[in-house]
Amino acid sequence: MADLAPSPIRATVDFDAMGAQHGHLVLPHSRDESAWGSVMIPVAVIRGGEGPTALLTGGNHGDEFEGPIALYDLALTLRLEEVTGRVIILPALNQPAFAAARRTSPIDGGNLNRSFPGRPDGSVTQKIADYVQRVLLPMSDVVLDFHSGGKTLDFLPFCAAHVLDDSPDAKAQEARALALVAAFGAPYSVRMREIDAVGMFDTAAEAMGKVFVTTELGGGGTASARTVEIARRGCRDMLIAAGVVAGQPEPRPTRWLDMPDARCFHVAEEGGLIRFLVDLGDRVAEGQVLALIYPLGRTGQTPKEVASARAGLVISRHHPGLLQPGDCVAVVAEETGSDAALSVTDV
Ligand code: CA
Repeated sequence: MADLAPSPIRATVDFDAMGAQHGHLVLPHSRDESAWGSVMIPVAVIRGGEGPTALLTGGNHGDEFEGPIALYDLALTLRLEEVTGRVIILPALNQPAFAAARRTSPIDGGNLNRSFPGRPDGSVTQKIADYVQRVLLPMSDVVLDFHSGGKTLDFLPFCAAHVLDDSPDAKAQEARALALVAAFGAPYSVRMREIDAVGMFDTAAEAMGKVFVTTELGGGGTASARTVEIARRGCRDMLIAAGVVAGQPEPRPTRWLDMPDARCFHVAEEGGLIRFLVDLGDRVAEGQVLALIYPLGRTGQTPKEVASARAGLVISRHHPGLLQPGDCVAVVAEETGSDAALSVTDV
């Protein structure tokens, strides 16, 4: 890594200074509309003490809104006197994607969450990933990266941490992350497995030994009053549990779910018109039909059935009414317990 060029991104805030600052990460982007133009990524830094650093990000995918709303609100309402460490807030991390309300960047098509570790001499999206990788992650202890389903998925509201490998260090790191998930106190909490972990922010942070927490809080390319409240309260209580903000977290019940293997994911083999027979939060049996997919071309054809590969709870579903081959139809997770098996005091 030592031979990489410095990042072209310049911060208008001083990450080491005490106090509250609002500024930008300035990423030069020369183009037809603006010869010496820049991408301007909003950033707030609130440092009130020598405690740990939390990196809070939204807009990693630009069509997911609970995180950005919670983080613009937090940057405005978090009082310096409350902060015992340092909070770095980036509500619109992939700013070009966020400004366009798209999952990926309209500049280079980049999916930021598949672009890590990034490149200082790469595309705009790769440059953002590289700055997070080499500048922001090393100064952070705890990372909360907000996600929701975006325009093509819908989720039960949950906070999550990943199942890490079996080494003692990784298991300790996993336990710290799960304790913060408990403190976040979303209605559901998930021990998560990824189907596509290469290039993710999560993977980059975890490989650096950081305590990484994420969410899926709804979807459909919008945000509800309920899911925004889950995001706002969860973020604040997680910061308290992490020792970054003073106060008492408010205990909230959560239902723990596990994603033990690839059978959780149901991928469409054929496209068509999707008719769900179950909704988010429904409990299903192994083999139960989750959805019917009607071919569009003519009437009189039997719809294709999508059967659940496991028993569990439906935590995610495809959002629009039409399906393409390869789309994720639904995710079914295993119920492992009704309430916090982990205490927030375990942090
Ligand atoms: Ca996402």
